[in-house]
Amino acid sequence: MGASCDWSREHFTLDPKLTEATQAAFIKLFNDDLIYKGDRIINWCPRCASAISDLEVDHREQAAKLWYLKYPVKDSSEFITVATTRPETMLGDSAVAVNPADKRYQKLVGQTVILPLLDREIPIIADRRVDLEFGTGAVKVTPAHDHLDWEIGQEYKLPTISVINEKTLITENGGPYVGLKGKEARLKIIEDLQKLNLLAKEEDYQQALARCQRCNTVIEPLISKQWFVKMKPLAEKAQRSKTFPSHRFDGNRLGYSFLLGGPDDNDEFILSQRKAIFPGLLARLSFRSARKENEQIKRYRA
Ligand SMILES: [Zn+2]
Repeated sequence: MGASCDWSREHFTLDPKLTEATQAAFIKLFNDDLIYKGDRIINWCPRCASAISDLEVDHREQAAKLWYLKYPVKDSSEFITVATTRPETMLGDSAVAVNPADKRYQKLVGQTVILPLLDREIPIIADRRVDLEFGTGAVKVTPAHDHLDWEIGQEYKLPTISVINEKTLITENGGPYVGLKGKEARLKIIEDLQKLNLLAKEEDYQQALARCQRCNTVIEPLISKQWFVKMKPLAEKAQRSKTFPSHRFDGNRLGYSFLLGGPDDNDEFILSQRKAIFPGLLARLSFRSARKENEQIKRYRA
């Protein structure tokens, strides 16, 4: 985007004048019916106890493990094996997905698997977004705990089953694992799958892990009630315009920043962004959390 800073007008983000401008913008957006509260998947930082916008998430490679879990196909002696770096999320699976072009799995699409440990029946679906090269080519779909899975879940109307809460503990949807810390649940699930002969293998893997830019804690994608900006009216305005870039920072003119989908100067990318209409998460705009941050800063300054 580029930036040209005017240091003569330097301010701290929570200075009273700026807070007032933010509140005015928030109220204007609310009165214009452009913002709403809703349940959607967000990046959650368990340490900050806050939703983090996509721009505040850093992705860094690190050594991880990839576990291959065997899901029994219903009324058959076959299994479909899915690879995952987070076995604990399997408690919230609502489908297994394969790529429609993947010949290995064509006969299984439309069938049902029995989710191990919880004995829930879930469908095998075909979706073009599944990477044929990843793991076995078949992936578990956990709409409540993965951004892509959330999109797939919305499209196929799959149930959204939250199994990890804001404190990273397993919820009551996690059956026998309720109350365990995510990592404890992971170890226990691997052990239990091993006992049932449903762990095919385990291998080393380089993973681009999402971390909170502010505190480096690993981000937990989860469903949360947050404020969102309706992108449709903004995108429609942009679609009508031949000079799209002049409209693209409307949010900044109002005195704060939110995600507009991040169009850049590549025309093709801009065009594709102009058609993509996603709600943008209003990060750090909750008055309650702003007050909380203010308190923390006062304590820090003292
Ligand atoms: Zn954090």
